[in-house]
Amino acid sequence: MRYEVLSRDDALSGELAERFHRLAGKRGLVRSETEPDVVVSIGGDGTMLQAFHKFRPALDRVAFVGIHTGRLGFFADWQADELERLVAFMAEHRRDESRIVRYPLVRVDIHRAAGEPVRYDALNEVTIRRREGTLVAEVHLNGLLFETFRGDGFCVSSPIGSTAYNKSLGGAIIHPTLESIQITEMASINNRVYRTIGSPIILPKHHACDILPRPGQPLTVTVDHLHFEWDDVVRLHCRVSDKTVSFMRYRPFPFWQRVREGFIRNEGDE
Ligand code: NAD
Repeated sequence: MRYEVLSRDDALSGELAERFHRLAGKRGLVRSETEPDVVVSIGGDGTMLQAFHKFRPALDRVAFVGIHTGRLGFFADWQADELERLVAFMAEHRRDESRIVRYPLVRVDIHRAAGEPVRYDALNEVTIRRREGTLVAEVHLNGLLFETFRGDGFCVSSPIGSTAYNKSLGGAIIHPTLESIQITEMASINNRVYRTIGSPIILPKHHACDILPRPGQPLTVTVDHLHFEWDDVVRLHCRVSDKTVSFMRYRPFPFWQRVREGFIRNEGDE
């Protein structure tokens, strides 16, 4: 099996990457920088986001696994002292289909005033904000006008991204196997003149949300950790992607347990 390692730019993550290569070589795993079957991310959730976007063109054949070198990450669930165990699992189970979980992604087509639309699949979310002042944008659901929004912006998240920015905005945590996208508002203005739905909405597969900013606004669009500053976006077309992300689950780590570990459990708790 071919693998590649992407590590965060710190001493511990670099050291672990070196150790990983040594252990993997002894177990007959072959490094391939261009055509890996499994990509190991060493660092934090941000490192996994980078690994995901680096190998986004190869989502059909690549599966990811994450080792965290800080606190437990949502994508990085192996600890630094479990390196040997992980390599042993990889050597034994390789890319065994029964050990792969696949999660939905958010797809966005970004239409600007000129040129072809640009397409991204996001692991966590796509956001749109006005850089200064109030964003004014129409929201269309399945091609029909739903509301005219005034406020800071929007976050459109995947289910696996629902515990990230979406959660900070008061969005619901969604089990990552549910094929859906969630749209959360950022500080909408709601009074007797302006009205938005005001609560997060969740769309199933095959439904689409279009966000149409009024022309001439300075905008920031993000796709996970990627930032773009564009002043000529005419439409963001968001839906559940027809691609999925694959993670190697060499051992079970139930999602709700991960949520508890990430948000609820104190150091001293059971
Ligand atoms: P980063 O690596 O510092 O990540 C920011 C935080 O988000 C970290 O604590 C990370 O562990 C956590 N995180 C990332 N994905 C997660 C997930 N799926 N579930 C739970 N927590 C998750 O910053 P970055 O490398 O620029 O990462 C970009 C991500 O940061 C974005 O995708 C966005 O979700 C998140 N973010 C969050 C906020 C917020 O909560 N107010 C604001 C901006 C960005």
